[in-house]
Amino acid sequence: MAKLNNNYLKLKAGYLFPEIGRRVKLFSDSNPENADNLIRCGIGDVTEPLPLAARDAMKAAVDELGHHETFRGYGPEQGYDFLRAAIADGDYRDNGISVEDDEIFVSDGSKCDTGNILDIFGNGNKIAITDPVYPVYVDTNVMAGNTGEANESGAYEGIHYMPCHAENGFVPEIPQERVDLIYLCYPNNPTGATATREQLEKWVSYAREQGAIILYDAAYQAFIQDQSVPRSIYEIDGARECAIEFRSFSKNGGFTGVRCAFTVVPKELMAEDENGERRSLHPLWSRRQSTKFNSVSYPVQKAAEALYSDAGKNEVKSLITHYMENAKKLRSACSEIGLSVYGGENAPYVWVACPESIDSWGMFDKMLNEAKVVITPGAGFGEAGEGFFRISAFNSKSNVDTVCERLKATL
Ligand SMILES: *Cc1c(COP(=O)(O)O)cnc(C)c1O
Repeated sequence: MAKLNNNYLKLKAGYLFPEIGRRVKLFSDSNPENADNLIRCGIGDVTEPLPLAARDAMKAAVDELGHHETFRGYGPEQGYDFLRAAIADGDYRDNGISVEDDEIFVSDGSKCDTGNILDIFGNGNKIAITDPVYPVYVDTNVMAGNTGEANESGAYEGIHYMPCHAENGFVPEIPQERVDLIYLCYPNNPTGATATREQLEKWVSYAREQGAIILYDAAYQAFIQDQSVPRSIYEIDGARECAIEFRSFSKNGGFTGVRCAFTVVPKELMAEDENGERRSLHPLWSRRQSTKFNSVSYPVQKAAEALYSDAGKNEVKSLITHYMENAKKLRSACSEIGLSVYGGENAPYVWVACPESIDSWGMFDKMLNEAKVVITPGAGFGEAGEGFFRISAFNSKSNVDTVCERLKATL
């Protein structure tokens, strides 16, 4: 009989968002009169319409495809040159960071890229992951066979978990032992924390000493307000030799449904082959994408390019301002009722300590049943997330105002 991938059987069944969905459905079914009243601040999905610059570019691209003279079929697997150049200029070179056009690999999402990147790494790498964490990093390592079984609290054997808590500012300490692949995400989902230049310098220097590679997820870089906080790992000297960066148009351009992102693989970045020889990873990722991927549709790449136009940049800025004003209101409301609040200053997530004697799922149920607001329980992001809950600032102004009122009335 055909054999399945046994690693999939190790995955924990009670995944966060399905469990939230189950509890919300139960509430709606038993309180039909309140179902329409429910405000969802649970999943980190954008709510505001697509920028006009992106829509116009997309429509014009669709029309090009409607004529023989301008029709296009398959594009380059790594992305069109026009978009790779716009990204390398707009996100890096304009800020004094050297990245070449062909080090940019366009994709249909950072979720896919952060998972797929494991294709170019061998077996037996020691994986370091923050706790709490974006669940994709953990689950894709389980699927790839880089872990053992999960224990009762959902921690997998073989992963080096790095606890993030208020005392370390939600940025983990450098491991005492050797690790090979390090997942870092700043500004962070779920905690909303940022990493300072000094903290990132320590990570880069550790990675270079150990021959480790940092997988840096910068999906939320556009939300950084504090100019001293690095937006890219490549702002740190030496990072080109030890880091891959993932960025996405999902959260800045509102592209969660449109799908476009990119990954930066510098040519200097090396890893060891089975004979202990150092080899560049750039050609491996290029080959991986050519073989397993056909890039993103032409209209979508034109829409992404338009985000770098003056009009596009202004619209992105307005979107960020909208969400960050929401975050500010949510932070104040939580502080006013005496809760300890983190994040929300350079990220669209507010990370709140639960009132004493309520755990994070208890808080979820209380908010659902009493405030009629869906939040995300911290425990769903890892053991160290227990005792916290996440409120997403991705919402309309009026919904956020209502959430703030209900928070104050409930707690
Ligand atoms: C939203 C998000 C992304 C973006 O994922 P896409 O697949 O590009 O939509 C990446 N990383 C984190 C941590 C996120 O929260």
